Amino acid sequence: MSRKNSSEPPIKKQKLTSLFDELTEKRKNVADSITNFKFNKKRVKILSQATEVVKGSKGILYWMFRDGRIQDNWAMLFAQKLALKNRIPLHVCYCILPKFLDATLRHYKFLVESLEEVSMDAKKLNINFHLLHGEPNTVVLEFIRKHNMGALITDFFPLRVPMAWVESLKMDLPQDIPICQVDAHNIVPCWVTSDQLEYSARTIRNKINSKLQEYLTEYPPVIEHPYKSSFEVPEIDWLNCLNDVEIDRSVDKVEWCKPGYRAALIQLEKFIYECLPHYCEKRNNPHLEMTSGLSPWFHFGMISVQRVILEVQKYKQKYLRSVNDFMEEAIVRRELSDNFCLHNKNYDKIDGARQWAIETLNTHKKDKRQWIYDLKELETSQTHDDLWNAAQNQLTVDGKIHGFMRMYWAKKILEWTKLPEDALAWSIYLNDKYSMDGRDPNGYVGCMWSICGIHDQGWKEREIFGKIRYMNYKGCERKFDVKAYVQKHNGKVINIKALSQKKTTKKTK
Ligand SMILES: Cc1cc2nc3c(=O)[nH]c(=O)nc-3n(C[C@H](O)[C@H](O)[C@H](O)COP(=O)(O)OP(=O)(O)OC[C@H]3O[C@@H](n4cnc5c(N)ncnc54)[C@H](O)[C@@H]3O)c2cc1C
Repeated sequence: MSRKNSSEPPIKKQKLTSLFDELTEKRKNVADSITNFKFNKKRVKILSQATEVVKGSKGILYWMFRDGRIQDNWAMLFAQKLALKNRIPLHVCYCILPKFLDATLRHYKFLVESLEEVSMDAKKLNINFHLLHGEPNTVVLEFIRKHNMGALITDFFPLRVPMAWVESLKMDLPQDIPICQVDAHNIVPCWVTSDQLEYSARTIRNKINSKLQEYLTEYPPVIEHPYKSSFEVPEIDWLNCLNDVEIDRSVDKVEWCKPGYRAALIQLEKFIYECLPHYCEKRNNPHLEMTSGLSPWFHFGMISVQRVILEVQKYKQKYLRSVNDFMEEAIVRRELSDNFCLHNKNYDKIDGARQWAIETLNTHKKDKRQWIYDLKELETSQTHDDLWNAAQNQLTVDGKIHGFMRMYWAKKILEWTKLPEDALAWSIYLNDKYSMDGRDPNGYVGCMWSICGIHDQGWKEREIFGKIRYMNYKGCERKFDVKAYVQKHNGKVINIKALSQKKTTKKTK
């Protein structure tokens, strides 16, 4: 695992041990277990007719998917609460999917190495971890039947594919087995915040912030489970567990982003000590990299956002503006994305945009484009724009693009493709394939915001973009040291003139 082989300098290890231990102690002081903690039931949705754990069953099963951690996980805690109450063993399973959207080896390795840590942590607590292979609607169902599980607990993930699995499980599970979904990803559960599609951050902000006092609480510990599995739990072959997946193996792992909860704590400490003091003023400067960099760990649920906020909030007195700005991004903006995906079935399509945006994009569909690139040229950073190429390089090589540059990156794709539909599909494809935090509601919303103006307003009308907010190179030069960013990410400038002749199309309007 990453910690054992870690080449982190000793000072960081020392810090990690202290934060890791500090949090362990803190949880113990909150309650001795979930049984003696006032669990907020609004975090749970019972999806089945059945509400009681089946009598005589052999355990509770938590199918973990979006929130891949043991501690600071309301779904895990709820599963243990039921298991303790019914005096039965606790099982956790994770399904290795043959394929998930456009995830590549980069993401699968990050995930699997982190799950190895999860399984070790589970083992220490007498919680049985199982790595299943296949689609959850088949393998979770088989597991429940084979091992006589008395209830199924699962995460909340408002994307089409995982929601369909949950629906399928709901239909196929034996009628007497309860299935409960827990929103362990958002601080205020998505269904509590709002039951409708919110227009923008402005309309959701107060709905979230007014409930923080109730939901932004400390966590009790997941404790050593007193009831042993009644059947033998198979050893996991971690080395070969990705042999059969059907993913793109050419996109391999990135070095800066180490998997797991412990690595997330290191990243959190680095952020707090080095970046938080400057977050409010410098976070939009792509060259300085003053943001937390935590989005990959958030995406895979390796660390809880709620825990991160509790830690960051300790610095409210010292860095009030930075803490408030961070809370706006990590709570309001992030939870707005979940709201969008939950309530808009077209969350990744032009049809999911507001009417004004669809109309303006249609009106300008046939506007002359000075540059038109195909997907391959974009993917391989072959545009005339060194800044854009640098961002694309950062994406393919490092698996990330700075948040400010992400907006520029996606907006230029709109400017340089024949159709807004292509621009949206390609930006999502590239983001999902390369970005460590891709395939996330934040990603679909980020692309939809940039290309279709969701959660935004209409701006002065112009070519191609219509009323969608525009960004340009000069604006970036005014904001930050473009040259330094380009140099850092090796933005290849190619022959503008040759491309101009090759790519310019006639205005057909
Ligand atoms: C085209 C485009 C694509 C994007 N794709 C993704 C993606 O695939 N996954 C992803 O997590 N974010 C995505 N974002 C949102 C945002 O850019 C990233 O969350 C942020 O850059 C992550 O870096 P960080 O963790 O250092 O952010 P920080 O500034 O440290 O923010 C902390 C956390 O707040 C949340 N956050 C920050 N900015 C936003 C935002 N604008 N919208 C919603 N949540 C936000 C993230 O969870 C982030 O980790 C995208 C934005 C755009 C414009």
